[in-house]
Amino acid sequence: MATAATPYEIVIIGANFAGLGVAHYLIRKTIPELQKLDESKSFHITVVTPNTDMFFKIAAPRVLLNATAIPESKVLRPLSEGLSKYKPEQLTLTQARATGHDAAKRTVTITPVGSEASKDLHYDSLFIATGTTSASPLWTLHADQSLTSTAFKSLHAALPTAKTVYIAGGGAVGLETAGEIATTYPNAKVTLLSGGTSLLPRISPAVGARAESYVKSNSVAELVHNLRVVSSDTSKSPNTVTLSDGSTREVDLCIDATGGKANSQFLQADWLDETGRVLTRDAYFRVKGNGSDDVEGVYVVGDIVAGSNNTAIEVDAMVPTAASAFAVDFARKVIGVSAEPAKSGLLASLFGMFAGKKAGPPSLVEYKPMKDTILVPIGPGGGVGQLMGWKVPSFFVGKLKGQKFLMELVEPALSGDKWPKA
Ligand SMILES: Cc1cc2nc3c(=O)[nH]c(=O)nc-3n(C[C@H](O)[C@H](O)[C@H](O)COP(=O)(O)OP(=O)(O)OC[C@H]3O[C@@H](n4cnc5c(N)ncnc54)[C@H](O)[C@@H]3O)c2cc1C
Repeated sequence: MATAATPYEIVIIGANFAGLGVAHYLIRKTIPELQKLDESKSFHITVVTPNTDMFFKIAAPRVLLNATAIPESKVLRPLSEGLSKYKPEQLTLTQARATGHDAAKRTVTITPVGSEASKDLHYDSLFIATGTTSASPLWTLHADQSLTSTAFKSLHAALPTAKTVYIAGGGAVGLETAGEIATTYPNAKVTLLSGGTSLLPRISPAVGARAESYVKSNSVAELVHNLRVVSSDTSKSPNTVTLSDGSTREVDLCIDATGGKANSQFLQADWLDETGRVLTRDAYFRVKGNGSDDVEGVYVVGDIVAGSNNTAIEVDAMVPTAASAFAVDFARKVIGVSAEPAKSGLLASLFGMFAGKKAGPPSLVEYKPMKDTILVPIGPGGGVGQLMGWKVPSFFVGKLKGQKFLMELVEPALSGDKWPKA
């Protein structure tokens, strides 16, 4: 196994923030380090995903405004721009969905986009990075990226003349969208339905209360609590919206900014938590399975991880940790080398000197995401947020995120330059 003739096959399912990050990280860092341990080993990665573009969804609340604020072409970027520099013997990008999985045979069933014909793909190691799908394609990729593009264009056409806009969802996405629309289209009356008793319920009551006071004092939107949008007919204008109290409203536009459902339908149910996310068996993103399935060499990364807070901040910390688990497992199972506890500084150089090796055994990277950190711009000039639990002043939220919507992060994510090299 894993000779030049028979490379070790790694399959990554899903290629947006998490899957793309794992692909780059393995090729830039993990694989070269393993090859320093044993140069006879070779690896091949297959990335399976229905989208051909990376979607930098973080900027979606501004992209939806019009064709120029942030052009769609800057947030939907061909994955090939980042991945085609790798040789075919290193990586293959396959436009398909995972539609089944057989743990005993170690195969994933994949169905190419636009085809009914599925086939089984063998893996030695598997990374599951399939994220979530929101009801609206404005926030996540649905099938390939064309539905997201259509959704942007339809709002570009409708927003300039919309007088009444309902936004369903009081999380960061709904709040940011309300702020963007209210700023660019001041003639529109924006109504934000939190669907609960407060804004930003998944973050903290203090930040939620600050957001509520910001929305009110800046007349961003009419805020309605304890009322949900049950359904909306957006096929004709005006949209007919049915609310949880049984009433209906006619509005020019209704935007669904509620959360997403986990993309795990291709996995067995006993690998999942009650929300459909994949359970882990340790803090290094090794998949737990059901106790009897073969889950050796199977990892999960990104929003699909059980207990994830669905942030890119967490994804950025998960990628090195899951890759380190893969390296440790591979070194033990395939090369026969045991993991070393993490070393640093003098100890590491002394170990290197006495061991006389070019490279030591891999060690696990602890998962340390930046905690209690979120920035929620409500319009370009300000908003609410916290950095490691500390309150961020409104103008700083505007400077850090509201002005450019973190667009400076697109290029390094696509190219892989955000990740270290071996
Ligand atoms: C509007 C918005 C703003 C945000 N702002 C921030 C922010 O400011 N800071 C922050 O930290 N986080 C933010 N986030 C969250 C962040 O974007 C997510 O945490 C991140 O995108 C998760 O990445 P992922 O790769 O796990 O999932 P996704 O981005 O959902 O990608 C999943 C991938 O899997 C593919 N896939 C799905 N099903 C299958 C299948 N069956 N087979 C194969 N492939 C499949 C999809 O096509 C896609 O390529 C924001 C999210 C949104 C929507």
